[in-house]
Amino acid sequence: MLINGRQEKQILAKAREDRWAIGAFNAFDLNSLEAILTAAEELGVPALVQTWDFYNPDSERNSFTEAGARIFEKQIILRAKESPVPVILHLDHTPSYAGCVRGIRAGWNSVMIDASAKSLEENIALSAKVVEAAHACDVLVEGEIGHVAGYSGLDTIYTGVDEAVSYVKGSGVDLCAVSVGTVHGFYATEPKLNYERIAELREAIDIPLVMHGGSGLSEEQFRKSIENGIVKINFATYVQIAGGKAIVEAVQGKERPMFNTVVKAGQDAAKDFIKMHMQIFGTQPVKL
Ligand SMILES: [Zn+2]
Repeated sequence: MLINGRQEKQILAKAREDRWAIGAFNAFDLNSLEAILTAAEELGVPALVQTWDFYNPDSERNSFTEAGARIFEKQIILRAKESPVPVILHLDHTPSYAGCVRGIRAGWNSVMIDASAKSLEENIALSAKVVEAAHACDVLVEGEIGHVAGYSGLDTIYTGVDEAVSYVKGSGVDLCAVSVGTVHGFYATEPKLNYERIAELREAIDIPLVMHGGSGLSEEQFRKSIENGIVKINFATYVQIAGGKAIVEAVQGKERPMFNTVVKAGQDAAKDFIKMHMQIFGTQPVKL
C-alpha cells in the first residue's frame, strides 16, 4: 500500500527507536521496481523505493521522454498501491524547489532537497521553502548537511553537530542526510566511518539520520552505523552490479539469449541482493 507522510514518519520513528534501518533502493524501470517490491513483500517489511528526478526535462540523467516519465510515474504509483507492504516513494537528490514540487505532484510521499553545497543559510532557506510546500501535501522532506563525496566531484565534508542542529531547527526537515565517511558510487580507498559522529548527531537531533553511499560497506560497518543511529540507508550502485552480473552470466555461452529470460535473471539477482541487505539492516514489519 502507498502510505502517507504521517505513516512514513511512524515507520522511521520506530526504526530510530529500535535501532534498525530501512534501505532506500533505486527504481529506474519496472524490473528494478519489481525487484525492490518483491524483496520487501517476501520478507513482509516496508519498502522504500527511490527514484531520481526523471521528470526533469533539463536533467542529464533523464532517460525518459516526457510521456515515458508520466507513464512510469503512474506505473510506480499503481504498483505501490497493489503491494501488501507499506511503500514509501522517495525522490532522491533534487537540487531545486521545482524538482521537489514535481515529485509531490507525481504522488511521491517523500522528497529530498539537496542544497548541501550551498551555505548553511541558503540551505536552510531553500529547505524551509520545500518543507512548507511538502507538509501542505502530507509529504516528508529529507535535507542534507555536510557533503557526501562521489559523483558530484566534491570532497567529503563531515557533518558538524552544531550546524546539523541549526539546519534541522531552521529548515524543519523530517529526515537529515549526514556525511560521516561514506562516498557515492565506488570506493577508491577503504571508507573511514565516523561512528562517534553518528552517535553525537543522533543525540543532538531528534529526526532520523540518513546515510548516502551505502554501497561497498561491510556488514559490520552497516551494523555499527545503525547501532549508532543511522535510520535510512541509500543503497544503489551494488544492486545495479548484482543485476548486471546476472545478466552477463545469463547471456554467456548462449547463441540465442532471450530478452525476457535475461532481464528476469537480472531482476531476480537484484531482488535477492536487496533482500540480503534488508536483512543486514534489520528492517522490521511495522503495524500502521
Ligand atoms: Zn546520495
